Amino acid sequence: MSPLHFGLQLCQPDVQKSCAWCCGLYNCLHRSRNELVRKLRARTEEFARTRRTVEGILSFSENIREKEKTQLVDPEFHSCEFVGFLNEDETLVGCMLHPLARGNGDTDWRGLSFHGAMACQGFFCRCYRELSPVQKQIILSTVDDWFLYGLLISDADFLHSFFRVVEENLIDPVKLLMPVASKLVHEFFQSLVPLDTIFVSLSSKLHSPSERKNAEEKINTLCSLLRRVA
Ligand code: SF4
Ligand code: SF4
Repeated sequence: MSPLHFGLQLCQPDVQKSCAWCCGLYNCLHRSRNELVRKLRARTEEFARTRRTVEGILSFSENIREKEKTQLVDPEFHSCEFVGFLNEDETLVGCMLHPLARGNGDTDWRGLSFHGAMACQGFFCRCYRELSPVQKQIILSTVDDWFLYGLLISDADFLHSFFRVVEENLIDPVKLLMPVASKLVHEFFQSLVPLDTIFVSLSSKLHSPSERKNAEEKINTLCSLLRRVA
């Protein structure tokens, strides 16, 4: 099914950000974002040197798994070794086996992955199905960093809660598209995700009572600021 079926493209919406959450990008124990960046960079560099043959790609897979010895946060959820950076600027994370990824010359190599090509092509997360076009647009226009974007756009429960609180405060979500409001929302999301910290999802971070209380205080502050500008 084409992503266009769901309206706005969420996986790779623009050149500033993309998401690879469902490829297991965050499902590994890291001490920091920088460690994750170093891992993706090393994979990308090694894949650039990899021959695009079945043997070459399977050998890459074996080498990366051996080298990284990834410890999964959720053992039921695969973390794919073919996620890398898709551009020089390292603003886009995604599938290095995709036919449009660098060096693949339109050949789709995803059939060599753990899930296989059909599963990789056919999966669309809850946010695709459940967020309204306006809600998607708010996230797209507010966040411009792949790390934060992937955590947000994969977390339907968190985003439903966020938009519910906004509406309970009698703020029309459309107004969050105004630049001044969008900036406040951006700062709110950013404040939830210290960029040197890794966790699997925003919801998982907000499990502890103190984190939840802290987030509630932040969203109340955000709503009172939004009421003044939106
Ligand atoms: S979690 Fe959703 S937005 Fe992210 S890559 Fe998967 S389908 Fe795309
Ligand atoms: S092979 Fe599939 S799971 Fe792996 S990075 Fe590509 S799309 Fe994601």
